[in-house]
Amino acid sequence: MRKRRRKKRRSNKKFIRISQIMIGIILVVGIIIAFNQYRINKDKIVYSNDVANGQSSDSDNKSNEVTAAEDNKGVPVLCFHSISDDPKAKSSIVIPKDKFKQDLQAVKDYGYTTLTIAQLNDYLFNNKPIPKKSVVISFDDGYKDNYTNAFPILKELNMNATIFVISSYLDGQVYMTPDEVKELSNYGIDIESHTFDHKQLSTLSYDEQYKELKDSKDSLEKLIGKPVTAIAYPEGKYNDDTKKAVVEAGYSMGFTIERGYADKDDSRVLLNRICIDYTYKPSDIKKVLENLRK
Ligand SMILES: [Zn+2]
Repeated sequence: MRKRRRKKRRSNKKFIRISQIMIGIILVVGIIIAFNQYRINKDKIVYSNDVANGQSSDSDNKSNEVTAAEDNKGVPVLCFHSISDDPKAKSSIVIPKDKFKQDLQAVKDYGYTTLTIAQLNDYLFNNKPIPKKSVVISFDDGYKDNYTNAFPILKELNMNATIFVISSYLDGQVYMTPDEVKELSNYGIDIESHTFDHKQLSTLSYDEQYKELKDSKDSLEKLIGKPVTAIAYPEGKYNDDTKKAVVEAGYSMGFTIERGYADKDDSRVLLNRICIDYTYKPSDIKKVLENLRK
């Protein structure tokens, strides 16, 4: 009897121990399954936000944008001229190719977006948002080297730019050919006016100014098949007649070379720009983009 009872007690103990092991296994398996499920769900959430794809969400984009009504800091409109390694070209407005590339690379590295002329117009006068760090790259005169030297760099860095062309100067020697201007326009570079004959507008009568402005607008529009909406005044010179003639000739924006950002408090025919010469270092470009000092 005693033997049998002892046997029964032993088998009870065995049963309890097996049960404990079974419960332990079930618990461990359960925890593993639950943890895996959590990881899958976590991945799903990450994926649905597109962060896993390296894309930012809409709310991120919006926080990086600004309208002129929210902040009228304005947009730096950089003004370049000739981009050339020609040793005979010894003017401060001639920038060697490598240096120009460093300047544009600095613009990119500092996180700036290059705007088209239409985007600048919409920001200034239609309260459309632009990225907080925005800049316009512009060139005056329409030199041949804008096509041969600047264009490949703009393409490589995927940047927008505007070239203010003197419409009667398209000789293919010092300046671009009409075909080159057309090719740039077709690519997406904005072709705008720098008058018909590069005369200092402030020395002309109203009628003469109007003719300089209108003739260049008409001939450039005929060449590129797109509206020409902006003008840069030769040597930045203008007077009260210029302001009227620009509007009468059908332009919506006029650019000076008065140093400052283009903001909505400027008259639309007196927009500031910042001329960049060969003395600028990439660190100077940063200063100019962020607070204008050099
Ligand atoms: Zn000029």
